[in-house]
Formats: sequence, structure tokens, C-alpha cells
Amino acid sequence: MRVVFLGAPGVGKGTQADRIAAQYQVAKLSTGDLLREAVRNQTALGLEAKRYMDHGKLVPDAVVIGLVKEKLADSSCVNGFVLDGFPRTVPQAEALGSALASKGITLDRVVNFEVSREDIVKRLSGRRSCPKCQATFHIDFAMPKVEGICDRCGESLVQRSDDRRDAIEMRLKVYDEQTAPLVRYYQERGLLFQLDGAGTVDTVFHHLLRELAPYRTT
Ligand SMILES: [Zn+2]
Repeated sequence: MRVVFLGAPGVGKGTQADRIAAQYQVAKLSTGDLLREAVRNQTALGLEAKRYMDHGKLVPDAVVIGLVKEKLADSSCVNGFVLDGFPRTVPQAEALGSALASKGITLDRVVNFEVSREDIVKRLSGRRSCPKCQATFHIDFAMPKVEGICDRCGESLVQRSDDRRDAIEMRLKVYDEQTAPLVRYYQERGLLFQLDGAGTVDTVFHHLLRELAPYRTT
């Protein structure tokens, strides 16, 4: 199974990627994890990526694609992978396509998680985080036992600056501008599956299973 999950921040695709990875014993690949792992292992690409990150710069596509390519050769990917949140742009999608083609493989499916703007703002703006132990809560969906206090360590909870409404709306706008062409790109190639991401985690997961089961390798 070789699939890509697309979707704005807050649509819940990371949670679903974890569950699909466990269900079908495929690797979940996210660029954040790949970068952290490469930096930690001090691989050639990891060291290169670190030079950009240390200067607060974006890691170039070529480096990220290199990391994805390296990972595909890993035994963890023997049954396939779920790419979570990558590619984000058409040039990245093209580079990914070439990297896969050089290994004689293609993507099976690209799932686009659709959640209304209003729901995303509600999900993200309700998040509260613990500045001490990094635990996260939600004022509607995952309330702490005592309002405003971390269950785990007793610290006062805060709203991270990028979870404020105006910051969320900016993130969504940037996401839409970057990703709308990507959705079209995969649609034109007959790979796109539009998934209604508005239901509960279990409901969304069952829709996904139905769609992805034909591609399982285990
Ligand atoms: Zn805490």
C-alpha cells in the first residue's frame, strides 16, 4: 500500500495515518519525523538539512525527497507507506513521482481529508497545551479534569500562539493556496479520493479502510 494523505492542519490526518499504519503494517512517513531522525542519526542528508534548520531556513525539496527515497529502501517500508502531509506542492509531487518511478513503483491512492473551515477553526482554537510537559487538551473534546490545569503535572494550560483564531485562519489560507493545485494534480491522474473528515475518528477510519483495503499487502 502506497498512499498520500492530504489535508489542512487540524483535519485529523495524522491520527488516521497512525491507525492505517498499524492496521496494514505500513510505515507512516512525515517530513518532520524524517528530518528529526536523519539529524539524530547524523546521515549525510541529515547534516545537510540541519544546516538549513540551524539558520531558520526551509529545508529544500531535494533534501526532503532524498530523505523519503532513503526511507523507502528501509525494511519498515516493505509493505508500503502512508505519507502524512507530504507532498505539499506540485513540484514536490513531481519529485516524489520521479523518486518512486526510479524504484519502479507508483502511488496507489491520494486521500484528501475534507473538513469545513469552521470545524477546523473550532478544533484548533479549542486546543490547550501544557508548557511544562507538552500534554494537549481540548476545551470541548478532551477536557482536563480541572479547567485550565494539566492533568499530568498540575501546570496552568496555555493556548499556543499558532492555535489562536487569526493564526489558524492565516495557516489555512496559506494551505489552500499551496495545496489546491496539488489536489487538481492528483485528480487529473485519477489518484484522488475525497474523504469526508467531519465524523468521529472511528467513522472516518472505517471510510478509509473501505477505500484502502484493496491496496493492502498484508
Ligand atoms: Zn503538564
